[in-house]
Amino acid sequence: MSFVFPPHPVVSLPIAGTADRFPVRRIFCVGRNYADHAREMGAVDQADGREPPFFFMKPADALVSGEGEIAVAYPPLTDNLHHEVEMIVALGSGGANVAVDAAKDLIFGYAVGLDLTRRDIQGKAKEKGHPWDMGKGFDQSAVAGVLQPVALAGHPAKGRIWLTVNGQPRQDGDLAAMMWKAADIIANLSTSVRLEAGDLIYTGTPAGVGPIVRGDLLAAGVDGVGTLKARIV
Ligand code: MN
Repeated sequence: MSFVFPPHPVVSLPIAGTADRFPVRRIFCVGRNYADHAREMGAVDQADGREPPFFFMKPADALVSGEGEIAVAYPPLTDNLHHEVEMIVALGSGGANVAVDAAKDLIFGYAVGLDLTRRDIQGKAKEKGHPWDMGKGFDQSAVAGVLQPVALAGHPAKGRIWLTVNGQPRQDGDLAAMMWKAADIIANLSTSVRLEAGDLIYTGTPAGVGPIVRGDLLAAGVDGVGTLKARIV
């Protein structure tokens, strides 16, 4: 058997402390997982605290990663590209209908990520009830730093999650403010699809999202997980 054209290379992430790489399968993202960001996006506060999490996806080959300054191409068809700093959960094993108590066992490690968003396209999609894909899943829309295995990072549940643009603070939140924690997210998502080794989950962004332009240097970090730098080119 041969392919009619060469198969695409496996998308992968660098891992701290080893030359081995993490092969990526799918990229899931959680929407509105921090109340302050939900409010800034105009979502109505729920009297009883939290709504069930909702998910969208990016193609695996939308991922750009690296250890140094990551070059990210400014995408077409937008005048309002936004940064969203997020903690990424990387799964080393899978399962369906995973119990919250067992969910951490699936986690291989954590990374700092950027969920880049064409906010103007996403906004029009929301108005019309259209899918978010072209607002969220464009080329190079998923930025990721070096993956920290659980053996190094543990399971970060609190600590700063922050982002600066050209040295100016834009986002500064705390993981403790996540409405749905990593284990909750895995348990919930696994009722909808069978999770597999290699899946990444972007766990949502705190308040302070905003526009970026060509030439901007983004720095971002999550306490205990690391930092990343990205240049918009
Ligand atoms: Mn996001």
